[in-house]
Amino acid sequence: QTEIPQTNTHTKRLTHLPPLLPPLLSSLTQTSPPPFFQSSQNKPITAAMPEAPKPTQTSNGLTTIAIAEKNKRTLQFIEDVTSNPDDVQTQVLHEILSRNSAVEYLHHRHRLHGATDRRTFKKLLPVISYEDIHPDITRIANGDTSPILCSSPISEFLTSSGTSAGERKLMPTIAEEMERRSLLYSLLMPVMSQFVPGLEKGKGMYFLFIKSESKTPGGLPARPVLTSYYKSSHFKNRPFDPYTNYTSPNETILCPDSYQSMYSQLLCGLCQRTQVLRVGAVFASGFIRAIRFLEKHWQLLCRDIRSGTLDPTVITDPAVREAVLTKVLHRPDPELADFVESECRKDSWQGIITRLWPNTKYVDVIVTGTMSQYIPTLDFYSNGLPLVCTMYASSECYFGVNLNPLCKPSEVAYTLIPTMAYFEFLPVHRNNNNGKERQELVDLADVKLGHEYELVVTTYAGLYRYRVGDVLRVAGFKNRAPQFNFICRKNVVLSIDSDKTDEVELQGAVKNAVDAHLVAFGGSVAEYTSYADTKTTIPGHYVLYWELSVKGTTAIPPSVYEDCCLTVEESLNSVYRQGRVSDKSIGPLEIKIVEQGTFDKLMDYAISLGASINQYKTPRCVKFEPIVELLNSRVEGSYFSPKCPKWVPGHKQWSNNVKN
Ligand code: AMP
Repeated sequence: QTEIPQTNTHTKRLTHLPPLLPPLLSSLTQTSPPPFFQSSQNKPITAAMPEAPKPTQTSNGLTTIAIAEKNKRTLQFIEDVTSNPDDVQTQVLHEILSRNSAVEYLHHRHRLHGATDRRTFKKLLPVISYEDIHPDITRIANGDTSPILCSSPISEFLTSSGTSAGERKLMPTIAEEMERRSLLYSLLMPVMSQFVPGLEKGKGMYFLFIKSESKTPGGLPARPVLTSYYKSSHFKNRPFDPYTNYTSPNETILCPDSYQSMYSQLLCGLCQRTQVLRVGAVFASGFIRAIRFLEKHWQLLCRDIRSGTLDPTVITDPAVREAVLTKVLHRPDPELADFVESECRKDSWQGIITRLWPNTKYVDVIVTGTMSQYIPTLDFYSNGLPLVCTMYASSECYFGVNLNPLCKPSEVAYTLIPTMAYFEFLPVHRNNNNGKERQELVDLADVKLGHEYELVVTTYAGLYRYRVGDVLRVAGFKNRAPQFNFICRKNVVLSIDSDKTDEVELQGAVKNAVDAHLVAFGGSVAEYTSYADTKTTIPGHYVLYWELSVKGTTAIPPSVYEDCCLTVEESLNSVYRQGRVSDKSIGPLEIKIVEQGTFDKLMDYAISLGASINQYKTPRCVKFEPIVELLNSRVEGSYFSPKCPKWVPGHKQWSNNVKN
């Protein structure tokens, strides 16, 4: 029988800590603190946790004074949690472990027996990856509702863009995590408004989308975290707030048809062009996709603006029609249509954002990590407006915010908010890891400036010492809380949108294509590398450079290389294939056959730049422009995938009813 452990001595010590903060100003609307500052018994667990800011609202929405006050309290919250990150982290770990003390994973498997202190936790709990808890996840997905990982019921799975065995990883979540995500969102605009005043006077034109969702065999929803958020009442029924006042009506964001969603969001953005003060999407790739869509469809959009109607063959979704016609497109506007047409007709689209939305102050998109490849394109379309990366988050947990949002993209540093989860850091020694040295994880308060770490999280939703797979570098501190540059996702070589392809996967995909199509012609791939081409096509696409070794005498027809392209695509993970099939965010894969001796030239070049001959290995992905040029200068033939690979929503082993 499962024992419910009693409070241990460490807990007692904690509860005697003096309050870190004076009580925050009381809210006009909310009387009880949000649940993440409460114990599972719904009582405040200690006085030690800083309270989250609460909305201040009047019946007509937020007044200017109320906004200023709310911003002040939010910024004070950030000051508080960053001033004492170690105490907050102790408290978070205590809270997670005490409320989950009886779950199978902690109690039976790792015999934590109610301990909630860091020392015991670190001694008994292993650092894990997804594969370690895959069997538990499968049990939950199949309908086992016993407390395996978490004492609160798993409300849904968030489908990560990280994959395992080709399928999206399933991250367990619980209902209250939505509060924590909302808290992180609520920090963004108060931070931003310190740098760009007056944002409450206009709107944000954000291109936001939902993706298809499925159900696990046990009946739990499985969907991306943003789909879950946009469909939640936190988003749909948000009280009026000038900071979440978007040009897109909710119905256009929640439209399951990505074409109609994009079309209607652009139309609404154009109709409200002078009110727009900021534009954005989650990732840079999504924002560029919207501009590309406008390039293709501005004539149709202008026709609707001119007539004040929605073409019934384009927008068939009744909810979208009603929302756009009643909330935005009230009347024919030939003047606006003429203006948009004259701008879009110009030869160059340089500065199209500032031309069409002249009051825009910044572009809010993530351009850190692999998204940095889109910076030149964004600079071109926006005439160099600030590119603002506000937050760092994942399906596992939302992590932190950028407290200096107008900094250059290369200097973006995220401050992890210590109340979100318990964070640990695995030191990364990039050039000097012989795998033998014992690696001790360090705590949030102990990371060192300039050092790199892999992020490890313990969440409220049942992940304990889980390796997220991101490498971060300490760039500085906000009070006593570290701020991190996002360096890379471990092992990922190729990415266009949210797809993440690693070397092993790429190798397997190339092998499958060679075995299926080239072997019959006596062909094999002697050397290969790859490149995420986001420059020559929008959307970008994967390019594989192959140097062949051919023993057969029959010439290999082009259709065989095209078949190779398709087989590579079929072999890549489900996030890649969804990008190709459903999101249309990735273009057809290309194979470029290069002349004999090209990879020797590549090696010569690397050695001329200082690589050691003995240790030289062909890079499986290239990014450095001169190397891409060298490869491109020796291309003998180029072939594209003739059609989309197969993709179904949900895991392929589930025979599920897909919903939108
Ligand atoms: P997902 O689990 O699909 O939501 O993807 C989360 C991952 O996206 C993170 O672990 C990071 O690798 C990446 N990511 C999220 N936010 C950022 C950011 N601001 N900069 C760079 N990469 C990010």
